Amino acid sequence: MAISSRTSPRTTRPSIELEVVATKTLSPHLVRVTFGGAGFADFEDRVETDKYVKLMFTTPPPESRPVTRTYTIRRVDHVAHTLDVDFVVHGDEGLAGPWAANAGPGATLSLLGPGGGYAPNPDAEWYLLAGDLAALPAIAAALDALPADAVGIAYIEVSSEDAILPLNAPDGVEVHWIIDPEHGVDQLADAVRGAAWKEGRVDVFVHGERESMKSLRRVLFDERGLERAQVSISGYWARGRTEDRFQAEKREPVGQIFTPA
Ligand SMILES: Cc1cc2nc3c(=O)[nH]c(=O)nc-3n(C[C@H](O)[C@H](O)[C@H](O)COP(=O)(O)OP(=O)(O)OC[C@H]3O[C@@H](n4cnc5c(N)ncnc54)[C@H](O)[C@@H]3O)c2cc1C
Repeated sequence: MAISSRTSPRTTRPSIELEVVATKTLSPHLVRVTFGGAGFADFEDRVETDKYVKLMFTTPPPESRPVTRTYTIRRVDHVAHTLDVDFVVHGDEGLAGPWAANAGPGATLSLLGPGGGYAPNPDAEWYLLAGDLAALPAIAAALDALPADAVGIAYIEVSSEDAILPLNAPDGVEVHWIIDPEHGVDQLADAVRGAAWKEGRVDVFVHGERESMKSLRRVLFDERGLERAQVSISGYWARGRTEDRFQAEKREPVGQIFTPA
């Protein structure tokens, strides 16, 4: 197993098959699946904290082409030869969410990747992290990677109080949980707009529901005037869309974070 530092998310590597070795209910809204097995030897780790894989789900013929779903690798344990993926439990719709909610030891899944795009910039003076539950694994991994003296603010939007989890943030990083049962698209943007902005160059990581990211884009670029290079921003999913539709819509104005809405 090697650790890659390439930043390109593209991969020509073959898929690897991993086995579920454990599952853990982190909250009623998030389940952790720990994958391991012989296939782990072929897993090529990366340094980015938002590293992600494409999980392959087979559908019955005639649509026998696997359907993929994108998930962050929350943590890799190179001693135990396992990796953790935290899945949002979002009801009966979809493939990955329901699969994870019912997964048990011995189940197998093939995955492609990983790719990755962000790690905290060591030259930044402070860090701003924001997202919803789908982005929590990447935000939590970034918090784990920050030095103990890092300064910053994190906002995590959830639908109810029982989704709040302990996070391993440096003392200088304030963590704010935003509870919004209505799933408003402006909650994170309003929080960031109202943040006590700190001195110096900020490094920003904001990901989550697409419309919510468009709202945040306006705050970060139009109102705060940040440079593109200091902001990692993307939609991780879109309400009412399967991931297939969400990915296809990236070619249309509605699917683009940087198209004025
Ligand atoms: C780089 C990247 C990393 C990601 N990392 C994670 C991760 O670590 N954990 C994680 O849970 N998700 C993560 N996501 C989001 C995940 O890929 C999507 O949520 C995906 O749609 C889930 O697939 P599904 O089969 O469960 O639902 P789909 O079949 O894609 O969708 C079925 C329905 O469920 C809705 N839905 C999908 N996701 C959610 C959600 N989170 N909350 C409420 N409704 C939803 C859809 O809008 C649709 O109506 C990531 C996405 C990207 C691009």
